[in-house]
Amino acid sequence: MSETMKAYIDAAESALLHTYNRYQVVLEKGDGVYLYDLDGKKYLDFVSGIAVFALGYHNKAYDDALKAQIDKLIHTSNYYYNVPAIEAARKLKKVSGMDRVFFTNSGAEAIEGAIKAARKYGYLKDGSTDHEIIAMEHSFHGRTMGALSVTGNPKYREAFQPMIGNIRFARMNDLESVKACITDKTVAILFETVQGEGGIYPATREFLEGVRALCDEKDILLILDEIQCGMGRTGYMFAWQQFGVKPDIMTCAKALGCGVPVGAFLMTEKVGANSLTAGDHGTTYGGNPLACAAVSKVLDLFEEEKITEHVGQISGYLETKLDALKEQFSCITDRRGSGLMQGLVFDQAVAPIINRALEKGLILINAGTDIIRFVPSLIIQEEHVDEMIAILDECIRETVGKE
Ligand SMILES: *Cc1c(COP(=O)(O)O)cnc(C)c1O
Repeated sequence: MSETMKAYIDAAESALLHTYNRYQVVLEKGDGVYLYDLDGKKYLDFVSGIAVFALGYHNKAYDDALKAQIDKLIHTSNYYYNVPAIEAARKLKKVSGMDRVFFTNSGAEAIEGAIKAARKYGYLKDGSTDHEIIAMEHSFHGRTMGALSVTGNPKYREAFQPMIGNIRFARMNDLESVKACITDKTVAILFETVQGEGGIYPATREFLEGVRALCDEKDILLILDEIQCGMGRTGYMFAWQQFGVKPDIMTCAKALGCGVPVGAFLMTEKVGANSLTAGDHGTTYGGNPLACAAVSKVLDLFEEEKITEHVGQISGYLETKLDALKEQFSCITDRRGSGLMQGLVFDQAVAPIINRALEKGLILINAGTDIIRFVPSLIIQEEHVDEMIAILDECIRETVGKE
């Protein structure tokens, strides 16, 4: 590492609050599926800013659209209309089949909005203020107090008690555990269609259908968190679309703006007409012209570049290669995921493998201590998969050894 890079890392550690154990690299620029650090070293990126840069770095049409919007108008208050937000909302409705959109600045804020919409729905229904939400163990929904309250990982919550309250945790893909949590106070059931941080666990068809039926029967809202698994990642625009089980509220972020900070929560007309209304919710930045110009262009490019079809094809190749790796190494115990959201489960901590990969110019990330997560840009080709597998193979041999 150069003296310059080392100096920047030292400066970072003396100025930024240490809430991340960062990898020892300063990234400077990107191109397609590759990143470059300050010293000019090239990395194949299988993280894409954690499922954010779906279209790769420096997609020209995307960059140009943002530059054009910067020259026009970056921000205006939500008390006025702006064309990018109108266009983005219209396109998002079209690809999701949902009816109403609220733009936020992040995923966590989308979750906050979804919780507020659900609570208001319950309030308007019976006037009471002690409604309950059912979330899942091992879930991850963000770091703000509301989002943390529905995050099924006690480690993240412990020091920040009390949470918002009236949250019950069931087990993903265990319909009986959900049934056991339902009371006459239940207003919503919330989960990620594919759990991300918690270890790459896709919801099964039976579970989704079962929860949907429970919700319909008892007028409970189904909230699906598509922040990580949405936006084409599973080969469908939104992961629930492959099952035809539609949520009442859906959250979206990460790849929605492909790098510009933006999220959204969307709802059906039924929820829209019976929950949040003027004065109930707001945000200064959410849905501003710059963020929405990004969303709007991203949705155009997804269509033009046939991103979901591509993911459908390339993910089969990635799965085959990961499965072959699993057959080869006894330290790999499982491979699971959906589309370009995959996890390799190891019988030990994966940090040494990920660190070695970084040295060799491959960017990978974990999900929990023993899972390597693969959430690359959606434009990867077979050659990138081959390149990644070759480096990863070496890294496993060198750190764990071959069996
Ligand atoms: C990343 C993530 C969030 C939180 O999004 P932020 O933009 O970091 O607030 C919420 N839910 C899921 C499933 C996520 O992957």
